[in-house]
Amino acid sequence: KPRILTKEEHQIDINKVSPFAVSVCQKLKDAGFKAFIVGGAVRDLLIDHTPKDFDVATDATPEQIKKITRRAIIIGRRFRLVHVTRGAETIEVATFRGLRQDGVEKDRQGRVIDDNVFGEQFEDAARRDFTVNAMYYDPLEEEVYDYHNGLLDIKKKRIRMIGDPELRYREDPVRILRAIRIGAKLGFKIDPKTSKPIREMQKLLLAVPEPRLFDEIMKMLMSGASVECMSLLDEEGVNVNIPLLKEYLSAKNDPFLLKAMEKSDARVAHGKPISQSFIFATLFWSLVKKEVEKVKKEVPDVTIPRQWQMAIARVTESPLLKGVQRRFFRDMEDIWRLQPRFDRRTASVAFKLIEHPRFRAAYDFLLIRASCGEVPHELADWWTAFEEAPADERKDMLQDLA
Ligand code: ATP
Ligand code: MG
Repeated sequence: KPRILTKEEHQIDINKVSPFAVSVCQKLKDAGFKAFIVGGAVRDLLIDHTPKDFDVATDATPEQIKKITRRAIIIGRRFRLVHVTRGAETIEVATFRGLRQDGVEKDRQGRVIDDNVFGEQFEDAARRDFTVNAMYYDPLEEEVYDYHNGLLDIKKKRIRMIGDPELRYREDPVRILRAIRIGAKLGFKIDPKTSKPIREMQKLLLAVPEPRLFDEIMKMLMSGASVECMSLLDEEGVNVNIPLLKEYLSAKNDPFLLKAMEKSDARVAHGKPISQSFIFATLFWSLVKKEVEKVKKEVPDVTIPRQWQMAIARVTESPLLKGVQRRFFRDMEDIWRLQPRFDRRTASVAFKLIEHPRFRAAYDFLLIRASCGEVPHELADWWTAFEEAPADERKDMLQDLA
């Protein structure tokens, strides 16, 4: 049933494949099972990108996988799979999922709740979302199994849903966001039939558990294609009221946020890490600015740091930040709190600020503010020079200001 593509046809560079993923496949095959690299990794290999992580699909059950591989743990409820680790690397190994609908629990709108019915490889392929995500690569034979003409869609640069798009969005509305994210990331177009139901189906996102939506929006913001994702969300008319989305889309009319997104996309392109707390700090910055203005009117007599502290406290308590994990709060709040200190270029403030563990992040934040005219360029330049100057020259710099 699948088209089997030879090395000449798929032209995957085996050097871009994780040796650990190959060894996991090898072990499964030695034990008599099928084993393939699947999903996003194959898609990325076919466009000659190095995948960031590898997923493996097999006909072995989670228990069998666990027996065959070392350092393996079974995870997940809705979708049980095995994490196999070596050093810092983790490979997700999943058993082929079946299409048999009777064992699959769905809710009223057709959303799949329990998804642990095992099946044949062709069924596993049909359950996947897009044709470009439904290819199986056997790294030992160096063959690709293509069930839904994914290679053609890779060549045509299009995201095409497997099966009836509307039905597939009903099963899992998050596929709307995935189509947009993967399309933006690869620079692919969403095929007209796949795009058409999006406007109508987006309301189903309201019934998806918030953490999953939050996760998916964060993936967009961290994808390295956050600006492109925003355009595509806009183009597809996605504007449903779900966590983070409104703040995200506001970047269209918010030069600061747009600049911040461009910068993080550039960082990803250069292989640099981006921090989630920094992204949150940029997403909710407009709220902080608004609150600071309000607080300044309400309590004009208290000190500036105190005013900022009050404003930041109100923002962090806002329901809009409900999904932000606590562990990001401190860094995010520090980035905000340090902003007014950049204005105070006195020795006592400047030397403390530059030693602050979050100076770097707060300074990067200041640069974005400067680049969109929120603070004078001169201020950002001064801090750049101050940071780069040797300790003895820093004193002179401060004296020159006085
Ligand atoms: P990324 O590069 O972001 O990891 P990916 O396509 O690998 O993209 P994953 O979330 O890692 O995305 O999923 C791995 C594979 O599982 C996908 O390629 C797809 O085949 C399948 N998959 C993931 N989510 C869904 C979904 N909601 N519906 C159907 N298939 C899915
Ligand atoms: Mg993946």
